[in-house]
Amino acid sequence: MAVVTGGGSGIGAASARRLAREGAYVVVADVDGESAARVAGELPGEAVAVTADVSTEAGVDAYIRAAVDRFGRIDLHHLNAGVLGTMAPLPDVDPADFDHVIAVNLRGSFLGLRAAFRRYREQDGGGAVVVTASISSLRGADDQLPYQTSKHGLLGLVRGAAMYGGPRGIRVNAVAPGLIPTGIFAASGHADRAQTLALRGGTTPMRRVGTVDEIAGVVAFLLGEDASYVTGEVVSADGGAFMVNTVVRSG
Ligand code: ADP
Repeated sequence: MAVVTGGGSGIGAASARRLAREGAYVVVADVDGESAARVAGELPGEAVAVTADVSTEAGVDAYIRAAVDRFGRIDLHHLNAGVLGTMAPLPDVDPADFDHVIAVNLRGSFLGLRAAFRRYREQDGGGAVVVTASISSLRGADDQLPYQTSKHGLLGLVRGAAMYGGPRGIRVNAVAPGLIPTGIFAASGHADRAQTLALRGGTTPMRRVGTVDEIAGVVAFLLGEDASYVTGEVVSADGGAFMVNTVVRSG
């Protein structure tokens, strides 16, 4: 039984579909209840949609309760809800925007991890959590400071949680997507330019952007038995973008 937050669109929706195809019952939680309901309605197995704002304790309680009421337990969590915030250079970043991005991306993941760990303790067994990080967890950019800060912070959460979870049979990992031209990335306003750069190979050795299903595949791997000895890890799925030294390159 799996919970996917931000499951109403993009990567989260793909992850919900993938987990359901593999036989999991899924709770699709999203602040946008309509899209959560649409995704849940199209899943092959049993699924529940929950309208929940992950930045609040009440929102997190709501999806945990819905999962436990319907399925009795939770085995897997994909903490994926996120926002990009306004793209702006540092002097123009609005503190309210900064707070909002941190609240959803970082506080939401903290609350989600805390709830997951409490749940696993109550169930008296192990479990697995994957957090959606980003190539922006690992690299700098000059116009997405709140987002990048929140995504860097997620790695601290993942490593701390993995430390605590290790002896308790709870694995915690992150997937770090590169250019996925939907959802958050589409909202950045840079999608076309970044896609062109990726295609030319300057930023992305594989010379293409990725798909949400390619991220969902990594999520399913990290949540599954094949990753039984993987924890505290950040797995990039970015066509090689992270490793590129953009100063020294040929072709
Ligand atoms: P991507 O697929 O690139 O992650 P999307 O914008 O498609 O980007 O997905 C992010 C999802 O997170 C959306 O469905 C959005 O409604 C959801 N979301 C945003 N803020 C919150 C929040 N506070 N609580 C729950 N879900 C949220």
